[in-house]
Amino acid sequence: MSVLQDLLGALGSGRVEVVDLTSPLHSGTPILQLPEPFANTIPFRLEEISRYDDRGPGWYWNDIHTGEHTGTHFDAPVHWATGQDGEDISQVSPSKLIAPAVVLDFASEAAKDPDFLLEIEHVRAWQERHGALPDGGWLLYRTGWDARSEDQAQFLNEGHSPGISADCAKWLAEETPILGIGTETVGTDAGAAHSFEPAFPCHSYFLGAGKYGLTQLRNLVSLPPAGSVVVASPLPIVGGSGSPARVLALVER
Ligand code: MN
Repeated sequence: MSVLQDLLGALGSGRVEVVDLTSPLHSGTPILQLPEPFANTIPFRLEEISRYDDRGPGWYWNDIHTGEHTGTHFDAPVHWATGQDGEDISQVSPSKLIAPAVVLDFASEAAKDPDFLLEIEHVRAWQERHGALPDGGWLLYRTGWDARSEDQAQFLNEGHSPGISADCAKWLAEETPILGIGTETVGTDAGAAHSFEPAFPCHSYFLGAGKYGLTQLRNLVSLPPAGSVVVASPLPIVGGSGSPARVLALVER
């Protein structure tokens, strides 16, 4: 039997489950709100072209209006000033779009403190229990924030949402072999990260190191601490800084 036949068999029998980590895209999908004087992205919107009517009697289709960083999406290195000489979203190698993943679950900490920050010591303690971070894989950071993801006000929480400290972001980006960071929040950084040194450290260090970000993930609760495989599929927008993405996880049951 070939490896792919084995995989299809496992998918068919349920021995490998496909978990959707993607938030649905609609006009109410929460979007980042930067303060003045910064420019903001637009909400997702469908614009109907025709719907079985005079404009197209047999067919229904829409134009879509969206930002690159709307809903569940992929951050490419060129998104940040520190990564401006790096890859745009179309240049990310397809071989990196299927990668191992680990899940660090700090939902109970974030429930007590919405400004909770992941620190190096937390990651080291996790590694003692579950093993090394995956070489060329994702660190997925669960905070329970996906439960808020259908409500813009709850999701943004007036700028109080969990994230990663500047020290930890620098260490993960520069000293560990991971491919990137995945979060459940509106961006990879904490809600208060505009005031960190440097500002927005996850963006600054990860994208500066040629690594990636995934945001607005959901259903991380359904993944094991280690051993899943993530399939992330951003659109290959030429010159793009990121893209909405369908993100799936393969999990052995
Ligand atoms: Mn982004």
